[in-house]
Amino acid sequence: MINVDENKCIGCGACVAVDSEHFAFNDQGLSSVIKQEVTDSVKEAKDACPVDAITVENAGNEEEENN
Ligand code: SF4
Repeated sequence: MINVDENKCIGCGACVAVDSEHFAFNDQGLSSVIKQEVTDSVKEAKDACPVDAITVENAGNEEEENN
């Protein structure tokens, strides 16, 4: 699953710019996940996040950092 840690997110918009299909700004101007589907672009968005607020967990191919 995809998760954005709102305590870490600074609302820079990088993930939304990289992958607007899966990430969008919420009412607080922070990123939220709008679609739970792990794709390469989700991983690119995760890599683009400057504060490592995004975690991606894929069944069978676990990838999680800085939890
Ligand atoms: S790239 Fe990271 S810090 Fe920037 S909006 Fe997305 S989750 Fe927040």
